[in-house]
Amino acid sequence: MSERTSERTLLMIPGPIELDPEVLRAMARPQLGHMDPEVARAFGRVLTRAREVFLAPSAQPFVIAGSGTLAMELAVANIVDPGERAVVVSTGYFGDRMRAILERLGARVEEVRAPLGEVPDLSAVERALAAQPTKLCAVTHVDTSTGVRAPVEAVARLAQAHGALMVVDGVCAVGGEELRQDAWGVDVCLTASQKALGAPPGLALVMAGPRALAARRAKKVQVASLYLDLLEWLPIMEGYERGAPQYFATPPVNVVLALHVSLGQLLGEGVEARFARHGRMAAAFRAGCRALGLALLPARDAIAASTLSAVYYPAGVDASLVGRVRAEGIAIAGGLHPEAKAKYFRVGHMGAMQASDVLAVVGALERALASGGHATSLGAGLAAAQAVLAERREARP
Ligand code: PMP
Repeated sequence: MSERTSERTLLMIPGPIELDPEVLRAMARPQLGHMDPEVARAFGRVLTRAREVFLAPSAQPFVIAGSGTLAMELAVANIVDPGERAVVVSTGYFGDRMRAILERLGARVEEVRAPLGEVPDLSAVERALAAQPTKLCAVTHVDTSTGVRAPVEAVARLAQAHGALMVVDGVCAVGGEELRQDAWGVDVCLTASQKALGAPPGLALVMAGPRALAARRAKKVQVASLYLDLLEWLPIMEGYERGAPQYFATPPVNVVLALHVSLGQLLGEGVEARFARHGRMAAAFRAGCRALGLALLPARDAIAASTLSAVYYPAGVDASLVGRVRAEGIAIAGGLHPEAKAKYFRVGHMGAMQASDVLAVVGALERALASGGHATSLGAGLAAAQAVLAERREARP
């Protein structure tokens, strides 16, 4: 029986995520219009801040009402013409989605797949790129179905060497995982507001570098959807950044205000500190899991994401664990990868997540395992997670 007395639930799924109170207050603001001077200022600053978050001074930001899937469509629909070739480097469910999007656009897609829990073999990526002229190469930075982090910098180097534009799905990564869009030669990086950027769902973000915009301008076939055409949006984004708002399609105003706050917080912490904090939280969570005898889906720590963890249920435990953790006041997610969906669960640790949240979820897991009859040494996971959190704190200057 749960001892919960409150509706309050700690949201530890891999997005949307727990929000900072200041971000929530932006959502509760009275409705303002999308041309309101305050909204225009905030929108303009969201665009400017996005360049700093993605470490992409050369890129043109696009912030458009929609989810991460829209961002994926925007990224590739503006580059690829029917019949052109695309290489999709896939580590799971969202790589498959990118393939489906590209196929709808009439691209010839070659997929380089990683085995479950592994990263793609770079020599296979190189062979695929070298085989035929390729318009673009797409990779998912962190596939949310596996918790595996792909080697984006290395894949981008290969794409560049073979003349392909590099597209990175950073939906479950940007704002938490190290990403240096310009320095790594990434032509388009995309994300959505509801993950490591720390805002509610509702906005798609696409950062298009100069080569990607040139490819849009050189497209032979018109972008089939008006809403998906970045050239329709370009004057709107430029207008907001100049402080001269124009209308094309109504943005979710309060989500823009909330993202303005959350990006301000992100940059206040600093992107490098942010990468380090996410790495620390993830390491503490993994240590807690291992001490409870739980195995992680990523094959090695070096390729395990900092933004979420995918963890196998131990023998004799099934997906009802997710419900028992929920009864302890913490929302986590079940599996997603079609090959192993029923065998693992996922915990997000991104955005405003702090040590106390990681400890809360490890503690809830311990109790949920024990209440399900699994032999669990209460406190073992907590001790291991605490050791990582404390050790890192001592290591700080
Ligand atoms: N790519 C990745 C890596 C994701 O994690 C997600 C969402 N979980 C998406 C794309 C799609 O985003 P959305 O659900 O916002 O459409």
